[in-house]
Amino acid sequence: MNIIRTIKGTHDILPADSKNWQNLENIVNEVCGRFGYEEIRTPIFEETRLFSRSVGENTDIVSKEMYSWEDRDGMSLTLRPELTASVVRSFIQHNLGTQAPIQRLYYMGPLFRRERPQKGRQRQFHQFGVEAFGSKYPEQDAEIIAIAWQILEECGLSNKSTLHLNSIGSTECRLDFRDALRDCIRPNLNQFSETSQKRFETNPLRILDSKADFEQKLLENAPKISDFFTENDKIDFDKLQSYLTAMGIPFSLDEKLVRGLDYYSRTVFEFRSTALGAQDALLGGGRYDGLVKTLGGKPTPGIGFAAGMERFLLGMNEQKKDSKTDIYFVCLDESVLSTCLSLSNQIRRAGYSVMTDPSRRSMKAQMREANKMNAKYAIILGQKELEDKTVVFKDLAKGDQESILQSGLIKKIEGLTK
Ligand code: AMP
Repeated sequence: MNIIRTIKGTHDILPADSKNWQNLENIVNEVCGRFGYEEIRTPIFEETRLFSRSVGENTDIVSKEMYSWEDRDGMSLTLRPELTASVVRSFIQHNLGTQAPIQRLYYMGPLFRRERPQKGRQRQFHQFGVEAFGSKYPEQDAEIIAIAWQILEECGLSNKSTLHLNSIGSTECRLDFRDALRDCIRPNLNQFSETSQKRFETNPLRILDSKADFEQKLLENAPKISDFFTENDKIDFDKLQSYLTAMGIPFSLDEKLVRGLDYYSRTVFEFRSTALGAQDALLGGGRYDGLVKTLGGKPTPGIGFAAGMERFLLGMNEQKKDSKTDIYFVCLDESVLSTCLSLSNQIRRAGYSVMTDPSRRSMKAQMREANKMNAKYAIILGQKELEDKTVVFKDLAKGDQESILQSGLIKKIEGLTK
């Protein structure tokens, strides 16, 4: 019979890897907590229109990558392809804006996009991200970027990553820029790729971040968004750069960085890593000052980022080795099982890890297993020990063993691990 396998572009996270995931999750929880951000968890599926309205009808994600279906009641639902839209929906639905002037949120979880799978690109992948609502000022942008930088540092990735920074200006200036860009491209439009020709109509800014050399050549004389900045766009972008410099966060200005989603305005940024190959984007984000209003909420500025957890893990080569079970409880006879189970549970309640054998194997087999697991100690319990209310306590590294009273077992373990 054919065995059933994971679907293309999805992966199991097996025990050998899950320690690395937990390590990354711990860093994210810890660093976000230090900056005063609180975790938000939203459903895996949402109404399709949440994403088409926010991410944008003409983006790759909405036009061809979403897993959508019509539910039994006729409503169109979608497995979330990103999390900002869901967080904004939740922010509006629960009136979070009235609870504090600034809402600082972070999240972690799986996302779904029907992309062509390759190294660092999957159809089910995971992101962590942060969102801050309520401030339009560049110090908020600096805080968001500082969180990203701190997490990269603690993952050992900051020296392998570059922060690309740009401003795509406020909405007013972007409309003028879009017209100017179209005017510049129009005479040579037929020399651009089919994708760019489509983007010319729908989202011409995205032509700027084309990876093709011949297109970059055609764009050599393209207008610069910075020439279209309003006075405030310019002041805020300069201030952001000075705050980053003050915090010791290196960046490189990148006029070609526009980001793929429709909702961005002003600051956009991306961390790329040299450790990753073709899919080098580790983390991307930006301002979305109009998004809360677009989704029906009171106008509220916002900024955030999302980071690919698989890509972080690919880049993190020095990963924590898992901590092995400290103690193996060797049970010599079925008649002593209940004492063995009860003592084991007392040890766990005291905060130590202990493993017992559920398959009634011989002492030799259990000792072999204890060694294989790198247990530090073995506790051995047989008929004789049961009668004496003792156990044999063995230090597996040294080979020493002694008989101790069951009532003194926890004290003994505490003494050893201090
Ligand atoms: P985005 O939501 O497209 O701005 O992506 C943010 C980050 O998520 C990227 O920088 C990647 O690290 C990661 N990412 C995006 N798409 C995928 C994917 N299909 N597979 C794995 N990681 C992804």
